[in-house]
Amino acid sequence: MPKLLDEFSGYDFEELMVDVFRKLGYENPRVHKQGADEGRDIVMEERVDGQTRAVVVECKHRETVSRPVVQKLHSAVTTYDYDGPKRGMVVTSGRFTQPAREYARKVEQNGTGPGIQLIDGKKLREIADRIGLDLYNGRIEILCDQTLQPYEPTAGLDRPLLSAFEPIENLPRSQVEASSRTAEFVPMLRIVASVQATFETSVGVIHRVNETDQFVVRADRHGPTVPARAFQRLVSEHVGEAIQFDESTFERDFDTVEVGRFERTETEYNDWLVDRVRDAHTTTVHYTGGNNVDYSKECRPKQSDVQIRSVTPVYLPQVTQVVSLGEYDHPVEYAAAGAARETITSPARCVHCGEDAGGETYTHCANCGSINCTSHTKTERLEGTPICTGCAVTESFVWSTKYFYDEENLETFETAYEAMPVYRKPMENPPLVAGVVVALLTALLAAGFVFI
Ligand SMILES: [Zn+2]
Ligand SMILES: [Zn+2]
Repeated sequence: MPKLLDEFSGYDFEELMVDVFRKLGYENPRVHKQGADEGRDIVMEERVDGQTRAVVVECKHRETVSRPVVQKLHSAVTTYDYDGPKRGMVVTSGRFTQPAREYARKVEQNGTGPGIQLIDGKKLREIADRIGLDLYNGRIEILCDQTLQPYEPTAGLDRPLLSAFEPIENLPRSQVEASSRTAEFVPMLRIVASVQATFETSVGVIHRVNETDQFVVRADRHGPTVPARAFQRLVSEHVGEAIQFDESTFERDFDTVEVGRFERTETEYNDWLVDRVRDAHTTTVHYTGGNNVDYSKECRPKQSDVQIRSVTPVYLPQVTQVVSLGEYDHPVEYAAAGAARETITSPARCVHCGEDAGGETYTHCANCGSINCTSHTKTERLEGTPICTGCAVTESFVWSTKYFYDEENLETFETAYEAMPVYRKPMENPPLVAGVVVALLTALLAAGFVFI
């Protein structure tokens, strides 16, 4: 349900502005309760010439903002407990009255105390355009123009394909050629969050958390979710090497390019992550009270103990290349970050068993194009080459099943078999022949003819 900015509560508007300021590059914007009347402001920091300056912001989601609001903010800035320079800002979705502007200008001109900047609805709409904020429904779309590389440019797209097919037996490299190439760009967020929490009881501090962690969140329609560890690694270790996302370049390299959308607002992803961070740092602490009694207490950081430091959107490319062999299409699928990649689907799997059995040898059947495990791979009797049980024509000779490419090969062999001398025929059943030899040896041993 799209939400009109008009339907926003003052509270929603503040939350929205926190995102706006974060997008604009302010440090650690957060809602701050101030004074006894529990008035809410946004406080944040900005770095100017190496110096950190505090900014106190009053948000008013209303049609007109008059002088007392600006005046009140002015005193809030003055009394804001901060060891360093500070300034004020009033943001409204509406407009400022003339006396309100006058007041702000005078504060600015006096130049003795902190200045006050006014941002009205018109200016806010300009800012919104720049950062991808949809003022109609109050969403901040995450705009992403960075992606990890779908392949390593010096190696090209064939390298991953050839290495994926390398372990497959009976398949000349010349046949490994992609019939289709798809790149899906999956929205991911690299979020840096820090937790600072102190847990106290009557005996003093029993537990302290002071950590900064990095998280990777999958942010498409399946998200927010935590992606597989391998994908987290690709994103967190390579986010610094991200390149400009240029759809037209990728359209030259791939037949299909799919770009996922960041389906939720930054706030939603952040809130989700803050809960995960709190869960991760929740622990039960045992301590002894002043009365010598042992206690245990669950220490769970509060929402306000977790600060989102940065949110970096980036696309993780998932490449699918299909190699068509005979009647079969073999997809090779992987997530990539330049030269680094993580396999999702490998051709080393048996078309008959389904899942890859792991560690086994896989063999290409040149007759039908399938890839098979050892138990589904046989030897073509006439030509002595690998064939799969799926497409082979079979016939039993001396109680042993023989495999053929086709009826023609079977007939050719049948004719040859018929022409074989009688003593050669049992050779068509190696286990039988081996059995006979063992039996013979045993008999000879028993008779004392062989000495070891
Ligand atoms: Zn198999
Ligand atoms: Zn086959």
